[in-house]
Amino acid sequence: MRREPLLLWAAVVAGLALLCLVAFCALFPPEIDAQTLAHFERDQVERAQDYAQVRYLLFAGGQALVILLLSAAVLVLFRQGWLPFPGANPYLQVATFVLLLLVAIELVTLPLDYYRGFVLEHRFGLSTQTTGQWLGDQVLGFLVRTVLTLVVFTGLFLIIRAVPAYWPVVASAAFGLFLVVQSVISPVIIDPLFHKFHPLPEGPFRERVVSMADQAGIEVGEVLVADASRRTTRANAYVTGLGNTKRIVFYDNLLNRFSQREAELVLAHEIGHWRHRHIIKGIVMGVGGALVFFLLYRLILGGYGVPAGHPATVPVLLLFVTVFSLLAMPAQNAVFRSFERQADRVSLELTGDAAGAVQLYQNLARTNLADVQPHPFIRTVLFTHPPAVERISAAEQWVVKR
Ligand SMILES: [Zn+2]
Repeated sequence: MRREPLLLWAAVVAGLALLCLVAFCALFPPEIDAQTLAHFERDQVERAQDYAQVRYLLFAGGQALVILLLSAAVLVLFRQGWLPFPGANPYLQVATFVLLLLVAIELVTLPLDYYRGFVLEHRFGLSTQTTGQWLGDQVLGFLVRTVLTLVVFTGLFLIIRAVPAYWPVVASAAFGLFLVVQSVISPVIIDPLFHKFHPLPEGPFRERVVSMADQAGIEVGEVLVADASRRTTRANAYVTGLGNTKRIVFYDNLLNRFSQREAELVLAHEIGHWRHRHIIKGIVMGVGGALVFFLLYRLILGGYGVPAGHPATVPVLLLFVTVFSLLAMPAQNAVFRSFERQADRVSLELTGDAAGAVQLYQNLARTNLADVQPHPFIRTVLFTHPPAVERISAAEQWVVKR
């Protein structure tokens, strides 16, 4: 029997503990305070809290299920040295093993995903999808994730077997390259699988895009509109792509239902992400995280006394990547929230419209049924953006400071 490395199981326990805390905090949402009520109706905040509570619980439950499933795979399959197609090509074994585990994870989490992504979204009036459309998206999403995971995993095993002494460093660099390629191609290859995009139509808003980019002193790539209303009533916008594929994408919902003043603030926010090079910084962060991950993973396999390139290690790798990603969320999201604060500041500088910004954050929160005043622990773990109340007070303080 193999000696179990403490590091792996300590990470698993820490991951499960974090999920228990998320679930616990979800059960006891904070009292709605006066600052929140100054900007939002109590009804809206409570409704959003009800919606968020179920989502937080489903997140914790889903992640816990995946961790338990993969822990079982490590304790049963890996301990026995089980391999698909014994004696076959090791890369075929790796790919098959990964595929089997991804299918198992998908099947175990499908009921929760259905409840969260379809039932709940309809109950709160956020989804415009039929069951068939939703299922189609799930199948497509699973296929895309699986292809990407297979590329990363087989590539990693190739590197481990090619340079056994330095593989963590080489693999981190290769992961950086993968992130760059993915950033370049996903707007033109992956995103169009889910949405139809068309260029922002001519008109005053399009003219404003050009003038604002000049004002910011940066070159704006394409500005596209996505047909998000086929799926959701949410409003959103984002920057994506690198080099030639760099673009700002607006959900059609945002352009159709928000004022031009609000759309300009969103545009300026997205320009802020470019000005501060957040996509590149995100990739650099990914490479740093990958290096830490690979070094720890090598320690774990050293504890097992198994060579890292052995195909039987697939469940250990999947389990550790799951808990590591989960435990990294507070740090990662703290950085993401600081990116968002920077982009918000640029949007105020470019438009000078703090009153409009307050109105925009209120409208976005109302439209997307956002948890505007989350429990501090849930904010730390799960929030990629500052909650609406924080964004509003930052806009109000910006006026005072000026
Ligand atoms: Zn942003």
